[in-house]
Amino acid sequence: MFFKPRPPAGNSHHASVTDLQDIGQRSLIRIIFATTGLILWVFCILQFMAGNYLFASFEAVVGALLVWGGWRIVRVRNVVPWVYLYLLPTFSFLLYIIVIPDASSTAFVWVYTFPVLSYLLLGRERGGLLALPFVLLALLLYLTTYPVKLDARSLIDLGNAVLCGLMIIVFVHLYEARRAVAHQQLQKMARTDALTGVASRGSFQRDLEQSILEAQRTRRPLVLVILDVDHFKAVNDQYGHHAGDQALRHICNRLSLRLRQTDLLGRLGGEEFGVLLLNTERDAAVALVEALREQIASAPLVYGEQQIYLTVTMGLAQWPTDGITAEQLYRCADQRLYRGKAQGRNRLVSDNT
Ligand code: GH3
Ligand code: MG
Ligand code: MG
Repeated sequence: MFFKPRPPAGNSHHASVTDLQDIGQRSLIRIIFATTGLILWVFCILQFMAGNYLFASFEAVVGALLVWGGWRIVRVRNVVPWVYLYLLPTFSFLLYIIVIPDASSTAFVWVYTFPVLSYLLLGRERGGLLALPFVLLALLLYLTTYPVKLDARSLIDLGNAVLCGLMIIVFVHLYEARRAVAHQQLQKMARTDALTGVASRGSFQRDLEQSILEAQRTRRPLVLVILDVDHFKAVNDQYGHHAGDQALRHICNRLSLRLRQTDLLGRLGGEEFGVLLLNTERDAAVALVEALREQIASAPLVYGEQQIYLTVTMGLAQWPTDGITAEQLYRCADQRLYRGKAQGRNRLVSDNT
Protein backbone atom coordinates (compact mmCIF):
# COMPACT_ATOMS: atom_id res chain seq x y z
CA MET A 1 0.00 0.00 0.00
CA PHE A 2 1.48 3.35 -0.98
CA PHE A 3 0.36 6.80 -1.99
CA LYS A 4 -0.53 7.37 -5.57
CA PRO A 5 0.66 10.66 -7.03
CA ARG A 6 -2.10 13.23 -6.90
CA PRO A 7 -3.75 13.91 -10.25
CA PRO A 8 -4.30 17.58 -11.10
CA ALA A 9 -7.42 19.23 -9.69
CA GLY A 10 -10.38 18.85 -11.97
CA ASN A 11 -10.32 15.14 -12.61
CA SER A 12 -9.09 13.88 -9.27
CA HIS A 13 -10.89 11.10 -7.47
CA HIS A 14 -9.30 12.35 -4.25
CA ALA A 15 -10.18 16.00 -4.87
CA SER A 16 -10.47 17.88 -1.59
CA VAL A 17 -13.57 19.84 -0.65
CA THR A 18 -11.64 23.00 -1.55
CA ASP A 19 -10.81 21.63 -5.02
CA LEU A 20 -14.45 20.73 -5.57
CA GLN A 21 -15.54 24.20 -4.47
CA ASP A 22 -13.05 25.73 -6.91
CA ILE A 23 -14.28 23.56 -9.79
CA GLY A 24 -17.89 24.48 -8.93
CA GLN A 25 -17.01 28.18 -8.72
CA ARG A 26 -15.31 28.18 -12.11
CA SER A 27 -18.16 26.43 -13.86
CA LEU A 28 -20.60 28.89 -12.26
CA ILE A 29 -18.53 31.83 -13.53
CA ARG A 30 -18.46 30.22 -16.96
CA ILE A 31 -22.27 29.92 -17.00
CA ILE A 32 -22.75 33.50 -15.80
CA PHE A 33 -20.28 34.93 -18.35
CA ALA A 34 -21.78 32.94 -21.20
CA THR A 35 -25.36 33.81 -20.22
CA THR A 36 -24.52 37.52 -20.00
CA GLY A 37 -22.78 37.30 -23.39
CA LEU A 38 -25.82 35.66 -24.98
CA ILE A 39 -28.22 38.20 -23.41
CA LEU A 40 -26.06 40.99 -24.83
CA TRP A 41 -26.29 39.41 -28.28
CA VAL A 42 -30.08 39.35 -28.00
CA PHE A 43 -30.04 43.06 -27.10
CA CYS A 44 -27.57 43.67 -29.91
CA ILE A 45 -30.14 42.36 -32.40
CA LEU A 46 -32.91 44.46 -30.80
CA GLN A 47 -30.74 47.62 -30.85
CA PHE A 48 -29.79 46.89 -34.44
CA MET A 49 -33.48 46.66 -35.37
CA ALA A 50 -34.08 49.95 -33.52
CA GLY A 51 -31.35 51.59 -35.62
CA ASN A 52 -28.90 52.10 -32.71
CA TYR A 53 -25.94 50.72 -34.65
CA LEU A 54 -23.22 52.03 -32.33
CA PHE A 55 -24.87 50.50 -29.28
CA ALA A 56 -25.51 47.28 -31.19
CA SER A 57 -21.84 46.94 -32.19
CA PHE A 58 -20.71 47.66 -28.63
CA GLU A 59 -22.99 44.94 -27.29
CA ALA A 60 -21.82 42.50 -29.95
CA VAL A 61 -18.15 43.04 -29.01
CA VAL A 62 -18.69 42.84 -25.24
CA GLY A 63 -20.89 39.75 -25.72
CA ALA A 64 -18.06 38.09 -27.65
CA LEU A 65 -15.53 39.06 -24.92
CA LEU A 66 -17.76 37.49 -22.28
CA VAL A 67 -18.16 34.23 -24.17
CA TRP A 68 -14.35 34.15 -24.62
CA GLY A 69 -13.87 34.90 -20.88
CA GLY A 70 -16.21 32.05 -19.98
CA TRP A 71 -14.18 29.70 -22.13
CA ARG A 72 -10.86 30.88 -20.60
CA ILE A 73 -11.94 30.94 -16.94
CA VAL A 74 -11.24 27.28 -16.17
CA ARG A 75 -7.56 27.78 -16.95
CA VAL A 76 -6.72 31.08 -15.22
CA ARG A 77 -4.82 30.95 -11.94
CA ASN A 78 -6.81 33.49 -9.94
CA VAL A 79 -10.45 34.05 -10.85
CA VAL A 80 -11.08 37.02 -8.54
CA PRO A 81 -9.70 39.77 -10.86
CA TRP A 82 -11.80 38.29 -13.70
CA VAL A 83 -14.90 38.44 -11.54
CA TYR A 84 -14.30 42.13 -10.70
CA LEU A 85 -13.52 42.83 -14.35
CA TYR A 86 -16.95 41.40 -15.12
CA LEU A 87 -19.00 42.82 -12.24
CA LEU A 88 -17.80 46.45 -12.18
CA PRO A 89 -18.48 47.24 -15.87
CA THR A 90 -21.68 45.16 -15.83
CA PHE A 91 -23.11 47.00 -12.83
CA SER A 92 -21.99 50.38 -14.20
CA PHE A 93 -23.60 49.58 -17.54
CA LEU A 94 -26.84 48.51 -15.89
CA LEU A 95 -26.91 51.75 -13.86
CA TYR A 96 -26.31 53.66 -17.06
CA ILE A 97 -29.29 52.13 -18.85
CA ILE A 98 -31.54 53.24 -15.97
CA VAL A 99 -30.64 56.90 -16.45
CA ILE A 100 -30.17 57.30 -20.19
CA PRO A 101 -32.80 59.52 -21.81
CA ASP A 102 -35.57 57.33 -23.18
CA ALA A 103 -34.61 54.60 -20.70
CA SER A 104 -36.98 51.69 -20.54
CA SER A 105 -39.19 52.07 -17.47
CA THR A 106 -38.43 48.47 -16.50
CA ALA A 107 -34.62 48.83 -16.87
CA PHE A 108 -34.24 49.19 -13.09
CA VAL A 109 -35.20 45.53 -12.50
CA TRP A 110 -31.65 44.60 -13.51
CA VAL A 111 -30.50 46.11 -10.20
CA TYR A 112 -31.98 43.03 -8.52
CA THR A 113 -29.25 40.97 -10.12
CA PHE A 114 -26.53 42.98 -8.29
CA PRO A 115 -26.72 41.19 -4.93
CA VAL A 116 -27.36 37.81 -6.56
CA LEU A 117 -24.34 38.04 -8.88
CA SER A 118 -22.08 39.60 -6.22
CA TYR A 119 -22.81 36.97 -3.59
CA LEU A 120 -22.65 34.06 -6.03
CA LEU A 121 -19.32 35.14 -7.48
CA LEU A 122 -17.55 36.79 -4.55
CA GLY A 123 -19.02 35.21 -1.40
CA ARG A 124 -20.44 36.93 1.64
CA GLU A 125 -17.90 39.62 2.56
CA ARG A 126 -16.65 40.78 -0.81
CA GLY A 127 -20.06 40.24 -2.41
CA GLY A 128 -21.84 42.30 0.22
CA LEU A 129 -19.25 45.08 0.03
CA LEU A 130 -19.58 45.33 -3.73
CA ALA A 131 -23.37 45.02 -4.00
CA LEU A 132 -24.30 47.51 -1.29
CA PRO A 133 -22.87 50.75 -2.80
CA PHE A 134 -24.17 49.82 -6.26
CA VAL A 135 -27.66 49.10 -4.95
CA LEU A 136 -27.71 52.38 -2.98
CA LEU A 137 -26.49 54.26 -6.03
CA ALA A 138 -29.19 52.58 -8.11
CA LEU A 139 -31.82 53.67 -5.59
CA LEU A 140 -30.51 57.24 -5.71
CA LEU A 141 -30.54 57.28 -9.51
CA TYR A 142 -34.00 55.78 -9.56
CA LEU A 143 -35.33 58.43 -7.18
CA THR A 144 -33.82 61.27 -9.21
CA THR A 145 -35.08 59.81 -12.49
CA TYR A 146 -38.56 59.07 -11.16
CA PRO A 147 -39.14 61.68 -8.41
CA VAL A 148 -41.40 60.40 -5.66
CA LYS A 149 -44.82 61.91 -5.39
CA LEU A 150 -46.37 61.64 -2.00
CA ASP A 151 -49.59 60.02 -3.12
CA ALA A 152 -50.51 56.47 -2.22
CA ARG A 153 -50.13 55.19 -5.79
CA SER A 154 -46.51 56.42 -6.15
CA LEU A 155 -45.59 55.21 -2.69
CA ILE A 156 -46.89 51.74 -3.57
CA ASP A 157 -44.76 51.76 -6.74
CA LEU A 158 -41.71 52.76 -4.71
CA GLY A 159 -42.56 50.21 -2.01
CA ASN A 160 -42.69 47.43 -4.60
CA ALA A 161 -39.31 48.36 -6.03
CA VAL A 162 -37.50 48.92 -2.73
CA LEU A 163 -38.96 46.11 -0.64
CA CYS A 164 -38.45 43.53 -3.37
CA GLY A 165 -34.77 44.59 -3.60
CA LEU A 166 -34.41 44.52 0.18
CA MET A 167 -35.88 41.02 0.38
CA ILE A 168 -33.50 39.74 -2.27
CA ILE A 169 -30.48 41.22 -0.44
CA VAL A 170 -31.49 39.80 2.95
CA PHE A 171 -32.26 36.32 1.64
CA VAL A 172 -29.15 36.12 -0.51
CA HIS A 173 -27.07 37.24 2.47
CA LEU A 174 -28.62 34.69 4.83
CA TYR A 175 -28.31 31.92 2.25
CA GLU A 176 -24.64 32.67 1.55
CA ALA A 177 -23.82 32.88 5.28
CA ARG A 178 -25.34 29.43 5.87
CA ARG A 179 -23.67 27.98 2.80
CA ALA A 180 -20.26 29.25 3.94
CA VAL A 181 -20.66 27.70 7.41
CA ALA A 182 -21.80 24.37 5.92
CA HIS A 183 -18.82 24.40 3.56
CA GLN A 184 -16.40 25.01 6.44
CA GLN A 185 -17.90 22.12 8.38
CA LEU A 186 -17.66 19.85 5.37
CA GLN A 187 -14.04 20.86 4.86
CA LYS A 188 -13.24 20.10 8.50
CA MET A 189 -14.96 16.72 8.28
CA ALA A 190 -13.01 15.82 5.15
CA ARG A 191 -9.74 16.81 6.81
CA THR A 192 -10.15 14.93 10.07
CA ASP A 193 -10.55 11.30 10.98
CA ALA A 194 -13.87 10.91 12.77
CA LEU A 195 -12.67 8.43 15.42
CA THR A 196 -9.39 9.97 16.52
CA GLY A 197 -9.67 13.61 15.42
CA VAL A 198 -6.23 13.51 13.73
CA ALA A 199 -5.74 14.27 10.03
CA SER A 200 -7.55 11.97 7.60
CA ARG A 201 -5.57 9.90 5.12
CA GLY A 202 -6.35 12.25 2.21
CA SER A 203 -5.43 15.33 4.19
CA PHE A 204 -2.18 13.73 5.46
CA GLN A 205 -1.28 12.73 1.91
CA ARG A 206 -1.84 16.27 0.61
CA ASP A 207 0.23 17.74 3.45
CA LEU A 208 3.05 15.26 2.81
CA GLU A 209 3.15 16.18 -0.87
CA GLN A 210 2.98 19.89 -0.04
CA SER A 211 5.78 19.51 2.53
CA ILE A 212 7.98 17.73 -0.02
CA LEU A 213 7.50 20.61 -2.47
CA GLU A 214 8.36 23.05 0.33
CA ALA A 215 11.44 20.96 1.28
CA GLN A 216 12.61 21.03 -2.34
CA ARG A 217 12.49 24.81 -2.20
CA THR A 218 14.15 25.27 1.21
CA ARG A 219 16.46 22.18 1.05
CA ARG A 220 15.46 21.34 4.62
CA PRO A 221 15.10 17.63 5.42
CA LEU A 222 11.87 16.03 6.55
CA VAL A 223 11.04 12.68 8.05
CA LEU A 224 8.06 10.39 7.50
CA VAL A 225 7.23 7.78 10.12
CA ILE A 226 4.60 5.10 9.70
CA LEU A 227 3.43 3.23 12.75
CA ASP A 228 1.19 0.24 13.20
CA VAL A 229 -0.26 -0.97 16.48
CA ASP A 230 1.04 -4.41 17.48
CA HIS A 231 -1.37 -7.33 17.80
CA PHE A 232 -4.28 -4.97 17.64
CA LYS A 233 -6.63 -7.70 16.58
CA ALA A 234 -5.95 -9.34 19.94
CA VAL A 235 -6.96 -6.10 21.74
CA ASN A 236 -10.29 -6.15 19.92
CA ASP A 237 -10.73 -9.87 20.53
CA GLN A 238 -9.88 -9.70 24.21
CA TYR A 239 -11.48 -6.41 25.30
CA GLY A 240 -14.01 -5.68 22.55
CA HIS A 241 -14.24 -3.22 19.69
CA HIS A 242 -15.07 -0.29 21.94
CA ALA A 243 -11.84 -0.81 23.87
CA GLY A 244 -10.03 -1.02 20.51
CA ASP A 245 -11.47 2.35 19.51
CA GLN A 246 -10.41 3.84 22.85
CA ALA A 247 -6.94 2.41 22.32
CA LEU A 248 -6.63 4.20 18.97
CA ARG A 249 -7.69 7.51 20.60
CA HIS A 250 -5.29 6.88 23.47
CA ILE A 251 -2.36 6.36 21.12
CA CYS A 252 -3.20 9.54 19.21
CA ASN A 253 -3.37 11.49 22.47
CA ARG A 254 0.01 10.13 23.57
CA LEU A 255 1.56 11.04 20.22
CA SER A 256 0.00 14.51 20.10
CA LEU A 257 1.36 15.32 23.57
CA ARG A 258 4.95 14.92 22.43
CA LEU A 259 4.77 16.25 18.87
CA ARG A 260 5.55 19.85 17.98
CA GLN A 261 2.93 22.21 16.55
CA THR A 262 4.53 21.89 13.13
CA ASP A 263 4.55 18.08 13.12
CA LEU A 264 1.67 16.27 11.56
CA LEU A 265 -0.18 13.18 12.68
CA GLY A 266 -2.63 11.35 10.42
CA ARG A 267 -4.58 8.11 10.41
CA LEU A 268 -3.67 6.19 7.29
CA GLY A 269 -6.24 3.47 7.90
CA GLY A 270 -7.25 0.90 10.53
CA GLU A 271 -4.60 0.96 13.27
CA GLU A 272 -1.94 2.53 11.09
CA PHE A 273 -0.77 6.14 11.51
CA GLY A 274 1.64 8.51 9.82
CA VAL A 275 3.80 11.14 11.48
CA LEU A 276 5.45 13.90 9.48
CA LEU A 277 8.36 15.71 11.13
CA LEU A 278 9.32 18.89 9.30
CA ASN A 279 12.83 20.41 9.28
CA THR A 280 14.14 17.36 11.09
CA GLU A 281 17.36 15.39 10.57
CA ARG A 282 17.33 11.63 10.92
CA ASP A 283 19.22 11.52 14.27
CA ALA A 284 16.91 14.04 15.95
CA ALA A 285 13.90 12.23 14.50
CA VAL A 286 15.10 8.83 15.72
CA ALA A 287 15.51 10.18 19.27
CA LEU A 288 12.05 11.73 19.24
CA VAL A 289 10.32 8.73 17.70
CA GLU A 290 12.06 6.34 20.12
CA ALA A 291 10.75 8.48 22.98
CA LEU A 292 7.25 8.32 21.47
CA ARG A 293 7.43 4.56 21.21
CA GLU A 294 8.54 4.20 24.83
CA GLN A 295 5.81 6.62 25.94
CA ILE A 296 3.15 4.48 24.31
CA ALA A 297 4.57 1.24 25.68
CA SER A 298 4.83 2.60 29.23
CA ALA A 299 1.43 4.31 29.47
CA PRO A 300 -1.31 1.69 29.24
CA LEU A 301 -4.88 2.58 28.37
CA VAL A 302 -6.99 2.53 31.51
CA TYR A 303 -10.22 0.85 30.43
CA GLY A 304 -12.63 0.49 33.33
CA GLU A 305 -10.86 -1.73 35.82
CA GLN A 306 -8.34 -2.93 33.32
CA GLN A 307 -5.05 -1.68 32.02
CA ILE A 308 -4.43 -2.41 28.36
CA TYR A 309 -0.78 -2.32 27.39
CA LEU A 310 -0.19 -1.26 23.82
CA THR A 311 2.93 -1.21 21.70
CA VAL A 312 3.62 0.07 18.21
CA THR A 313 6.12 -0.75 15.48
CA MET A 314 7.48 2.11 13.40
CA GLY A 315 9.25 2.57 10.08
CA LEU A 316 11.10 5.81 9.38
CA ALA A 317 12.20 7.34 6.08
CA GLN A 318 13.98 10.62 5.49
CA TRP A 319 13.62 13.00 2.55
CA PRO A 320 15.64 13.14 0.33
CA THR A 321 18.01 10.29 1.24
CA ASP A 322 15.41 7.49 1.40
CA GLY A 323 13.14 8.74 -1.35
CA ILE A 324 12.32 11.83 -3.37
CA THR A 325 8.60 11.42 -3.92
CA ALA A 326 5.85 10.82 -1.37
CA GLU A 327 5.35 7.39 -2.87
CA GLN A 328 9.03 6.41 -2.52
CA LEU A 329 9.17 7.70 1.06
CA TYR A 330 6.01 5.89 1.98
CA ARG A 331 7.19 2.64 0.45
CA CYS A 332 10.55 2.86 2.26
CA ALA A 333 8.93 3.60 5.64
CA ASP A 334 6.41 0.81 5.06
CA GLN A 335 9.11 -1.76 4.27
CA ARG A 336 10.99 -0.80 7.43
CA LEU A 337 7.81 -1.03 9.48
CA TYR A 338 7.25 -4.58 8.27
CA ARG A 339 10.88 -5.46 9.02
CA GLY A 340 10.24 -4.19 12.54
CA LYS A 341 7.22 -6.48 12.78
CA ALA A 342 9.31 -9.44 11.62
CA GLN A 343 12.05 -8.58 14.13
CA GLY A 344 9.62 -8.87 17.03
CA ARG A 345 7.53 -5.63 17.10
CA ASN A 346 7.60 -2.72 19.59
CA ARG A 347 10.53 -1.13 17.80
CA LEU A 348 11.61 1.57 15.38
CA VAL A 349 13.43 0.69 12.17
CA SER A 350 15.10 3.73 10.62
CA ASP A 351 17.63 2.24 8.20
CA ASN A 352 18.34 -0.82 6.12
CA THR A 353 20.93 -2.50 8.38
P1 GH3 B 1 0.34 -6.77 13.76
O1 GH3 B 1 1.11 -6.66 15.02
O2 GH3 B 1 0.96 -7.67 12.77
O3 GH3 B 1 0.04 -5.44 13.18
O4 GH3 B 1 -1.05 -7.45 14.15
P2 GH3 B 1 -2.46 -6.80 14.16
O5 GH3 B 1 -3.38 -7.71 14.91
O6 GH3 B 1 -2.40 -5.39 14.65
O7 GH3 B 1 -2.74 -6.70 12.62
P3 GH3 B 1 -4.00 -6.96 11.75
O8 GH3 B 1 -3.82 -6.14 10.52
O9 GH3 B 1 -4.18 -8.44 11.57
O10 GH3 B 1 -5.22 -6.41 12.56
C1 GH3 B 1 -5.57 -5.09 12.59
C2 GH3 B 1 -6.89 -5.00 13.30
O11 GH3 B 1 -7.26 -3.66 13.52
C3 GH3 B 1 -8.00 -5.66 12.54
C4 GH3 B 1 -9.16 -4.69 12.68
O12 GH3 B 1 -10.29 -5.32 13.23
C5 GH3 B 1 -8.66 -3.68 13.66
N1 GH3 B 1 -9.17 -2.34 13.37
C6 GH3 B 1 -9.00 -1.61 12.24
N2 GH3 B 1 -9.63 -0.42 12.35
C7 GH3 B 1 -10.21 -0.41 13.58
C8 GH3 B 1 -11.02 0.55 14.26
O13 GH3 B 1 -11.32 1.64 13.77
N3 GH3 B 1 -11.43 0.22 15.52
C9 GH3 B 1 -11.12 -0.97 16.08
N4 GH3 B 1 -11.55 -1.22 17.32
N5 GH3 B 1 -10.38 -1.90 15.46
C10 GH3 B 1 -9.92 -1.63 14.21
MG1 MG C 1 -1.27 -3.97 13.65
MG1 MG D 1 -2.18 -2.81 10.28
